[in-house]
Amino acid sequence: MGKSSKDKRDVYYRLAKEQGWRARSAFKLLQVDEEFDIFRGVTRAVDLCAAPGSWSQVLSRELQKNRQEGQEPPQIVAVDLQAMAPLAGVTQLQGDITKLSTAEQIVSHFHGGRADLVVSDGAPDVTGLHDLDEYIQAQLILAALNITTHVLRPGGAFVAKIFRGKDVTLLYAQLKTFFRTVHVAKPRSSRNSSIEAFVVCLDYNPPRDYVPNMANPLMDVPYGPENPIVGSNRVIVPFVACGDLRGFDSDMTYPLEISDCEPYQARDPTQMPISPPYKRALEMKRANFYNKAL
Ligand code: SAM
Repeated sequence: MGKSSKDKRDVYYRLAKEQGWRARSAFKLLQVDEEFDIFRGVTRAVDLCAAPGSWSQVLSRELQKNRQEGQEPPQIVAVDLQAMAPLAGVTQLQGDITKLSTAEQIVSHFHGGRADLVVSDGAPDVTGLHDLDEYIQAQLILAALNITTHVLRPGGAFVAKIFRGKDVTLLYAQLKTFFRTVHVAKPRSSRNSSIEAFVVCLDYNPPRDYVPNMANPLMDVPYGPENPIVGSNRVIVPFVACGDLRGFDSDMTYPLEISDCEPYQARDPTQMPISPPYKRALEMKRANFYNKAL
């Protein structure tokens, strides 16, 4: 492809180079701000999954505008698995946002203070298997939200890339437990053909006794007393054994004669599967297809 053909095909790619942004994604954050005013009053921000750094560039420029005379310079922490070329006014951490150590490094950077804004443009390497891609993306959002609960001040905002897959409403419901307002934004610079969008979560307001943690409830929560998920983070529902406890144990093997009254008689299933996925394979086997193919 010639150098100019991508400029022609992708106007935001071209504009990013003309305006000095490291990636076209800069426009997505700028357009989210046009609608939601997310930078207003922000002096401390965290940029998760930041490489190559166009969102950090945007943050650096916009937060500088908020700086009052005599005020400390804005604080911006950018994190990515990959190394990033340095950017003035941006502290860079190379790390994995799913790790507690990364959350701790970010927290320590603010010396006990809190961030006003956390943004996350994280995306896994897409496999093309939509269910898998959406699942991995959801894990990244969970990690970003976990870090956010450690560093965001009450009232602060969180913006994160999501994939609008079939289970996305569950994510909105989960985010609503932490933020008073949740929107989904599709900036013009985000291609219509992409299922990408951005959740814009405003007014951070976690459940009253929520304890920030980095546990992934699907993957790494041990049962028992060492389980780190406690208090309102943990919902325990009654586990009820049902059925007559004198009945058959489903894990046992029993002799075929289980009743003194009725002799054992082999029976077909009441309803055979009508279109099982293995049907075609059985037909091919019956037609000796596999031997003929050899
Ligand atoms: N917002 C960036 C910009 O404007 O330049 C672009 C971000 S890029 C679309 C997605 C980034 O997510 C990649 O740089 C990738 O390394 C990062 N990433 C993916 N998984 C990550 C993880 N577990 N921890 C940290 N970064 C991660």
